[in-house]
Amino acid sequence: MVNAKGSNLPKVKRLNRSSILETIYTYGPLTRAEIADRLGLTQPTITTVIAGLIEKGIIREVENDKEEFTVTLGRKAAFVDFVPNAFYIIGMEWIFSTNYYCICNLLGEIVYRETLESYQDDYEKNLSQAIAAVKRMLREQNIPDEKVLGIGVVIAGLIDSDNQIIRFGSVTGWRDKHMGEELSRATGFPVVMESQGRARATAVQLFERMRLPEIYAYYFARHGVSCIMMTHGEPMKCGNYGAGELGHMLMKEDGPLCTCGKRGCLQTLVGEMSIEKQCVDLIRQGKAPILEQLTEDRDVPGINDILKAVECGDPEVCRTVEEAARYMGISISNIINFLSPELILIEAALMNSELARRRLTEAVEEHIFPFQKEDIHLKFIPADPYHGARGACAVAVKKLFLGSP
Ligand SMILES: [Zn+2]
Repeated sequence: MVNAKGSNLPKVKRLNRSSILETIYTYGPLTRAEIADRLGLTQPTITTVIAGLIEKGIIREVENDKEEFTVTLGRKAAFVDFVPNAFYIIGMEWIFSTNYYCICNLLGEIVYRETLESYQDDYEKNLSQAIAAVKRMLREQNIPDEKVLGIGVVIAGLIDSDNQIIRFGSVTGWRDKHMGEELSRATGFPVVMESQGRARATAVQLFERMRLPEIYAYYFARHGVSCIMMTHGEPMKCGNYGAGELGHMLMKEDGPLCTCGKRGCLQTLVGEMSIEKQCVDLIRQGKAPILEQLTEDRDVPGINDILKAVECGDPEVCRTVEEAARYMGISISNIINFLSPELILIEAALMNSELARRRLTEAVEEHIFPFQKEDIHLKFIPADPYHGARGACAVAVKKLFLGSP
């Protein structure tokens, strides 16, 4: 019979390994002594685990280029860090019009990326595309199966990330699609799934190595809006589908009709689809001459066309963007008044415009208490079309490599 002490040992080892890997992710490269310090573990424990990871080709020693002294016996202690290409992860994000695919290495560097046209709400066709893309990308990039940790998927909507099921696709209307199981069966790789906001927040936490406070918020807006509260490196979770959906928060009782059937939801005021729709109306009414010129060859202007028109000073387009930025600012001030996080990271293509950033900041300052201005920091993350697919990779690293729940 295995005694209690004996049966706990593998678990302790696993936990130690997992915390060491996570610490190197967040703060690395680090010396063994620094890891021991951070985790309150003994140096022999760290040395043993690191030796095992070096032998497996996951961790390597790198040059210590820190200015301050970490000198032992006249020599700087070496840093340890991940071997970037020890493993790869395939990430994908489907948005209604486009499907983004990428391959990341262990440090979250995108080593390959491609954009494919979406089959919109045809789930089966999108799934077949993904299965073929995974196989083809690995073959073309010469990546053997044993180097692949798994696949991460990000989809807009309510995602059951414990069971890898799309409970509700927000633009597609999909219900209960067991995508994780189907993709895994067809490719042979484990699959993890997550929502757009939570995956992006996880990528920043894991891959960017930013010095982040213990509690902060990640605000993400595209067609919908979410705000993820991060506490001690983890996205806050309530109930089955995570927390942080903000798009249907009521902002204006007599506002525009939302896809949910109600009026005046936040996403009808700040979502990209709604801004694009307002701009189409402006063009039709002859009120957006610069934007009209910029998009002569297209039916619908994209967010980048709209921001270009703002830069060129198209007055009505500027007004539309300013109004959206103002509502975004008000929604952020509501979060500040409710939860008071010291940092809010904001990712929205709309914020690539300086005018929009200014309006948002003004609206936030107008709606919070004056004394909060000093304590709360807003930081804009430049929007990138591959952030979702890379976020999917980060979630896969967390669940399949670090062993997070
Ligand atoms: Zn709504």
